[in-house]
Amino acid sequence: MKSPSDKTLLGLDIQELSHLVEQAEEPSYRSRQLFEGLYSRRTESVEQISTLPQEFRQWIAEQGFVFGLPEIAQKFISSDGTVRYLMRLQDSETIETVWMPEGDEGEAGDGSEAGAEVLKQTGREWKRATICVSSQAGCAVNCQFCLTALLGVKRNLSAGEIVGQVIAVLKDQDVTPPLERVNLVFMGMGEPFLNYENFIKAVRLLVEGVGIPEARMTVSTAGIVPRIEDLGNEKVRPKLAISLTAGNNELRSRLMPINRKWDLNKLITAAQEFPLRNREKITFEYVLLRGVNDSDRHAREVAELVRGVKAKINLIALNPGPGIDYKTPEEKRVKDFQEILIRAGVPTFVRRPRGRDIYAACGQLKRTLEATA
Ligand code: SAH
Repeated sequence: MKSPSDKTLLGLDIQELSHLVEQAEEPSYRSRQLFEGLYSRRTESVEQISTLPQEFRQWIAEQGFVFGLPEIAQKFISSDGTVRYLMRLQDSETIETVWMPEGDEGEAGDGSEAGAEVLKQTGREWKRATICVSSQAGCAVNCQFCLTALLGVKRNLSAGEIVGQVIAVLKDQDVTPPLERVNLVFMGMGEPFLNYENFIKAVRLLVEGVGIPEARMTVSTAGIVPRIEDLGNEKVRPKLAISLTAGNNELRSRLMPINRKWDLNKLITAAQEFPLRNREKITFEYVLLRGVNDSDRHAREVAELVRGVKAKINLIALNPGPGIDYKTPEEKRVKDFQEILIRAGVPTFVRRPRGRDIYAACGQLKRTLEATA
């Protein structure tokens, strides 16, 4: 796996920056200035960090250091206001990041009046927004219903490349601090827990540098059990979501081969033991596949499975794509499935697909160059 140049500044924490400052024989407070310059979103080159003396900026450039912000190579805009960004990294590898704005009640183009209002407001006006970031180029997990799986895994993203996606989108959307209306989900391309060190470093930089509170972040895993345990031990961490998609081992192993390594027994135990904060819940995502995992019996099985966990469930009707053999269930089936879970006492929500028309929805990120419908 190729990694980005070790002369990249974005991704360095305060401690690493202080080594650099020492090397340059600059006073130690320069590391804080450098840190703020890198993560405050107001700059995209060292030259622009105006708090630093000109000589120091020059020294940094002479040493061959680069800022390292991903470049927005292409942008696709959905009728519902969602924007899919194709980002180019320093080694020309490409990844995707998604921007999802929402109005008060609805989202642009969802058919509601509130949604229509968002659309009218030229896509610049939004009440809340979620950024969906990638953690790897491609993915190694091979879930049978996901388009990213078809790419295989190209490489891990560095902490700087993960943070850089957020900064690039915030810049492009003209978002200025405070960032209290922005949520972040680690649900783009890749399995964050197979790139754990870089992912968790990125979380810290996003909290300390970019200013997004940890409570506004969620990480989703296909079920890498040892890393669920690690996350529970972190001082600073996002909320946890687990992609479930089946309530029994036979079916789950077929749909998500990772289940052969860490089965439902191990997964649910890890979820039960996960130290939750006050009022926090674990989210289980369940992708509904027509005729495969969407019957009443399946719903009851899931309710039974998560009984001992402080959980909520997000149902996602399959987003279709080329090379995926599964089908999307009817709306009525989704509603009935939800109803059974709710009756069983499990808070259950149906996730509206965002940006399906531009291949930006869950499981559709595959670096599509043209917006094919
Ligand atoms: N690899 C991590 C992070 C990605 S999150 C994980 O799997 O959790 C992406 C979410 O989209 C996952 O919950 C996944 O189950 C879901 N998903 C994958 N393919 C999908 C598809 N075709 N339609 C709808 N959801 C899908």
